Amino acid sequence: MAVSPTAAPALTTADLYRRLLREAVAPYAGRFLLAGVCMVAVALSTAALAWLMDPVVNRVFVEKRADLLWPVGLAVLTVFAVKGIGAYGQTVIMTQVGQTVLTDLQNRLFRHLLQMDLTFFAQHRTGTLISRLTTDIAAMRMAVSTALTGLGRESLSIIFLVGVMFYQDWLLATVAFVAFPATVIPISLLGRRLRKVTANTQEQTGAFMTLVEQSLSGIRLVKAYRMEEYERGRAERLTTAIRDLVIKAERVKAMASPLMETMGGVAVTIVIVYGGWRVINGTTSAGAFFSFITALLSAYRPMKALANANASVNEGLAGAQRLFGVLDTGTVMAEKVNAPALHVTRGEVRFADVAFSYGGEAEALKAISLVAAPGKTTALVGPSGAGKTTILNLIPRFYDVAEGAILIDGQNIADVSIASLRNSIALVSQDVVLFDDTVRANIRYGRSDASDADVEAAAGAAGAHDFIAGLPEGYDTIVGERGQTLSGGQRQRIAIARALLKDAPILLLDEATSALDTETERQVQAALDRLKQGRTTLVIAHRLSTVAAADQICVVDQGRVVETGDHGALMASGGTYSRLYALQFSTLGAATG
Ligand code: ADP
Repeated sequence: MAVSPTAAPALTTADLYRRLLREAVAPYAGRFLLAGVCMVAVALSTAALAWLMDPVVNRVFVEKRADLLWPVGLAVLTVFAVKGIGAYGQTVIMTQVGQTVLTDLQNRLFRHLLQMDLTFFAQHRTGTLISRLTTDIAAMRMAVSTALTGLGRESLSIIFLVGVMFYQDWLLATVAFVAFPATVIPISLLGRRLRKVTANTQEQTGAFMTLVEQSLSGIRLVKAYRMEEYERGRAERLTTAIRDLVIKAERVKAMASPLMETMGGVAVTIVIVYGGWRVINGTTSAGAFFSFITALLSAYRPMKALANANASVNEGLAGAQRLFGVLDTGTVMAEKVNAPALHVTRGEVRFADVAFSYGGEAEALKAISLVAAPGKTTALVGPSGAGKTTILNLIPRFYDVAEGAILIDGQNIADVSIASLRNSIALVSQDVVLFDDTVRANIRYGRSDASDADVEAAAGAAGAHDFIAGLPEGYDTIVGERGQTLSGGQRQRIAIARALLKDAPILLLDEATSALDTETERQVQAALDRLKQGRTTLVIAHRLSTVAAADQICVVDQGRVVETGDHGALMASGGTYSRLYALQFSTLGAATG
């Protein structure tokens, strides 16, 4: 079975526009319409101002009609007022809608990420995903504020202004527009180039974020192995690459504006020379000419804005493309329609001929069969890479089995609802994960309905109450990123309290490999014993005490269970376990995994 998430096909620009229209714009159609009305008002008044130059010049200046002085002046004032109100309304509405659309997308993406399978996260770097949620959204935000607000208005203005130009002097207009296509083609070529460069920038930025995140969170390792130079080198290669790409993008962008200006200059020169000649020999009136040139010059600003908008729209589109790419990546984990809830009665976990592979050639598990008896502890032991973690990962369906089945009290876990399955399982892993929140919130994680008294009772049972009470703010102390302000043993006891509070019938335990001092070890052990009480426990055992006390030991080697039995029986048989025991557990306490 292929275990890769269903990758999304690349979207074409037309697809992108269609999707943005359907998914982002359509829900706000009413407000877009309102903004559209404002846009038309702005564009019309821009054109009206140019058109008004005709009566201003011909009637007031040439014919010197005093009676028209006020009416013409008032008309100009009215048009300015309409333009101002329209521009304000349009900007406010578009900003509101645009930002709401983006927030919707951002929330949708985060929701989507939360429900993705572990397979997906193994294939996508965290930094890259963060960059989808931050830089790509920022690019889209930029596009929305410069483009959505300006694009419609500027293009409409241009259309109306061109209308005025043709109305006043169609011959002159035709001449002026010979230069026009010449400006559009290079601009659109620049846009395409820019989109490619920006996409690369985003990729490199993602890689950089991942690198920084990893080397800072692993800073102790970096220092201990004196890898500062190596990490610095890696970071500098990436920042240099990003700098070069940004410079390249800016160079492309910088070209757009002067290009437009030069083209505009050519058009204006032609118009002045040819238009002036037509006025002088009487083919056209001075008013028409001034109105024409006003329209032409008024069109310059929106044209330039369009060219700039084009660039940022392209950046935004590239961002949208990547964002949709993630949104379109489906989950592998299929839940049956109307899947019934899992009913745990005794809590028996059975692996029946389970095979699994992470997607590569090698199978991580081959025909695993084992039964974890209800309420008992089953210890998984074996060399590193044997498949112990994989066995645990399959029970909450972090991954799906390729062959065989996992049954809990006779129910195939693939047939029941994932929510009911995961509600029945508590997980305490060796890389104890605490969130940067209060102690209380960390214990209550997954049981938001638990009262403060419940939380404290669980902490008490986990042997954590006393040290928590001694923290500066007690249960309201913030534990810091990954719980760095607490000791290893303290973190473990908080994780145990969390599992106790969840009170699930099945317990998956990945025992910590790091050695604790004897006293802490004893406290953690006592807490674990209390947690295991009455639960079906599968534990990846690294400690002799755990293995020796387990009701059943499954020895895992190269993806198979090679021996099963209790400590005494397995030692007596003199097989793999006894050899492993001699190697791994003979030194007291913790050993390597
Ligand atoms: P153990 O817990 O016994 O040390 P694991 O279950 O972690 O062993 O690993 C079993 C095998 O699966 C190993 O060969 C390991 O390299 C491989 N493996 C583990 N996790 C992944 C993963 N996320 N992607 C690909 N291969 C993996």
